[in-house]
Amino acid sequence: MNHYLSISEKKIWILIQEKIKEKVTPQQFTTWFSGLNLIKLTTKEIHLRAPNSFCSEWIENNYMDAIMLSLKEASISNRKVKFVIDNSSSESELSAQNNYPFLNTNSPAYINKNYNYNNFLVGPCNRLAHAAALAVSESPGTTYNPLFIHGSVGLGKTHLLHAILLRLQEKGHKALYLPCESFVNHYISTIKTDDWDNFRNKYRQIDILLIDDVHFLANSQSTREEFFHTFNALYTRQKQIVLSSDCPPEEIPTIEERLISRFRWGLITRIDPPGFETSVAIIQKKISLLKMDISYDVACYLADNVVSNIREIEGTLINIHKYATMNKSKIDLSLVKQIIKGFSKQKHNIGIEKILNIVTKYYGVQLSQLHSKRKLRSITLPRQIAMHLARKFTNLSLEEIGGYMGGRDHTTVMHADYKIKKLKTLDRNISSTLRKLENELTKKNEY
Ligand code: ADP
Ligand code: MG
Repeated sequence: MNHYLSISEKKIWILIQEKIKEKVTPQQFTTWFSGLNLIKLTTKEIHLRAPNSFCSEWIENNYMDAIMLSLKEASISNRKVKFVIDNSSSESELSAQNNYPFLNTNSPAYINKNYNYNNFLVGPCNRLAHAAALAVSESPGTTYNPLFIHGSVGLGKTHLLHAILLRLQEKGHKALYLPCESFVNHYISTIKTDDWDNFRNKYRQIDILLIDDVHFLANSQSTREEFFHTFNALYTRQKQIVLSSDCPPEEIPTIEERLISRFRWGLITRIDPPGFETSVAIIQKKISLLKMDISYDVACYLADNVVSNIREIEGTLINIHKYATMNKSKIDLSLVKQIIKGFSKQKHNIGIEKILNIVTKYYGVQLSQLHSKRKLRSITLPRQIAMHLARKFTNLSLEEIGGYMGGRDHTTVMHADYKIKKLKTLDRNISSTLRKLENELTKKNEY
């Protein structure tokens, strides 16, 4: 209900929503942002109404960066975001269906029929995960239970989970797919409605449960508890469980050992970023799906220049496609080079402020501590990581980075960069931290 907003405010809100959509998955958008409304916009503050406090807290804990960046892109930065809880519906009126439309897991918005085995290209990076998924689709509950697939964003976890789901549904199995955030949300809404029969029946009466992005369990201890019971209930009845996460189980923050050990009962498999050949093959596959006409040369060029993940390849192809259609131009190497140049500028448009912001937040240190001369490891490590990331993602010179880091010498920056690169290969904790920070920094559009 934002009827008292002016037309221009309404337009701004639409723009902000568009910007947010570019930064989160469609599922996440439906889950958390579709119920959000702009109610007031001043020069200092922006007030958003959330359907309940759980929703606003979740957004504050997980999506503030996306919101702040979206505000900035909509040219209304420097505002404090305030959440107002919708009191129009009293707690007792909270009905799961009304407030949590995303719980309707049969909704087509959830399932992408294109994410099937036919459209999934197998290469060395995902061969094991794919084989395990196939085995599970063949005989659920027997071979690998649970099947745990992990890998960083955009590498095909959701696609594989869908492929399993679609294949099993074809064969008449009762399979349920859902993003972990929806499970969390359902749990929280059930606390309010107290309809535990409904909750438990939903999960315990199925043959196969697929939960995507279980790293989100890190945020809620009570939900982990309930998940643990759900897991046990299904497992003891030999029902298949398939899980995905952006990191291996033991790296999910705050997760309890007993859950990790459950995950280890089955198979844990990783998807890696695609190598050159696989990238070319995936590009060719996507080209044929998009009915685009691109030569092998161009595909190779793209594979060489775009890939960090498959979602990015896809996004680039779609952009090239749009551009070529709009301008009625033939897609050749020079056109593609031109378009990619535009992107790579964007790609490196990560400011040092953002790096400092993410690093200080992650390590819980103050910017002034990074600037200081203190040599405690708890401070030198984030300081060096920030310098490394600045080298990697910004176009700033060594001197400039040194300047941002409390007036340090360029050799200090060089040394820090070198040291972190080396640590990355030696220390698993560091490499996983870097992966998380880089994911956070480069969170890309979802196409
Ligand atoms: P994740 O869940 O790991 O972040 P997704 O499953 O959403 O990644 O994949 C991102 C995009 O890349 C999707 O459009 C998906 O279809 C595509 N994709 C990923 N892996 C493959 C693959 N092996 N073959 C073809 N397309 C893929
Ligand atoms: Mg996914």
